[in-house]
Amino acid sequence: MQAVIVRAPGALSVADVPDPTPTEGQAVLRVTACGICGTDLRLHEAGALAPGTVMGHEFCGEVVEAAGQLRVGQRVTALPVHSCGRCERCRSGLGAYCAEQRSIGLGDRPGAYAEFVAVAAHETVQLPDGVDDDHGALVEPLAVALHAVNVGRIRRGESCLVIGAGPIGLGVALWARHFGAHDVIVAERCPSRRALAEQMGATHLIDPDSEELPTSLQRITAEGPNVVFEAVGVPGLIQQAIGHVRFRGRLVVTGMCVAPDQIQPALALTKETSIFFALSYEKDDFQYTVDMIDQERIAPAPMITDRVGLDGVGSAFQALEKPDQQCKVLIEPGL
Ligand SMILES: [Zn+2]
Ligand SMILES: [Zn+2]
Repeated sequence: MQAVIVRAPGALSVADVPDPTPTEGQAVLRVTACGICGTDLRLHEAGALAPGTVMGHEFCGEVVEAAGQLRVGQRVTALPVHSCGRCERCRSGLGAYCAEQRSIGLGDRPGAYAEFVAVAAHETVQLPDGVDDDHGALVEPLAVALHAVNVGRIRRGESCLVIGAGPIGLGVALWARHFGAHDVIVAERCPSRRALAEQMGATHLIDPDSEELPTSLQRITAEGPNVVFEAVGVPGLIQQAIGHVRFRGRLVVTGMCVAPDQIQPALALTKETSIFFALSYEKDDFQYTVDMIDQERIAPAPMITDRVGLDGVGSAFQALEKPDQQCKVLIEPGL
């Protein structure tokens, strides 16, 4: 099959690679759509992925080799993990945190920047007709955002600040509104992403380059937001977020920062800030996301800005290093 492989740090190419060989409990999907994730960009740029790696963990497809309860021809998305399926965590939908889990598309096992991908049958979630392939590929990043919002325990009427309007920040804004947050304030430098944030449910937009964030926040919520979501992942932002959140507020860190980051705890102590870290999701987050798309209770499609075939992935990576108009780029291997 054709797949996009890592040639060397910073270099990708389309290559012929062996078809997936599923082991027990694994199904094979014909990939219909796969999102490019910021984590892919960062791991690739950092040289963290061995030559030959196939990335891609935000995907959906059609079952071509069935396993478990699946039937050939079904459309599904899947948690991008090969988990054991037997342990306590797997049985309660926490396969992403299974001690034996191997990631799909993040270096452990081949991902979906390819015509076909092997998945754990028990980690799949069926896509109803109301969820097309584009939306199917958005389920994973939206589930990340849903999990972060659940960890932050947003309540109706509360205010929140989302730092960063990449796909995860946008998803957080969307779910925060969905669960009844009154003020959903999004701080983002890139004008096109601020515009997207507005479409996804943000009630206030702040450009941190042209306004003083604390002053603008003060105008919207005098006490400060109940919850701050850090959705960028660069050093210094956790400290800034502690500065923004209200007394006894919650801070949820979702941005993947691989560099050391210093914080000065005294301010968090005086505010009694609760700090949470949220990574990945539970299987129920996938199912809820699929249900809400199917029922048209959420409308995430605006975040899809580009579609490319396998041969367009290299240039999409270059464009995403300094995103201008791009947000979520989908790979459609059939294009
Ligand atoms: Zn991702
Ligand atoms: Zn397990």
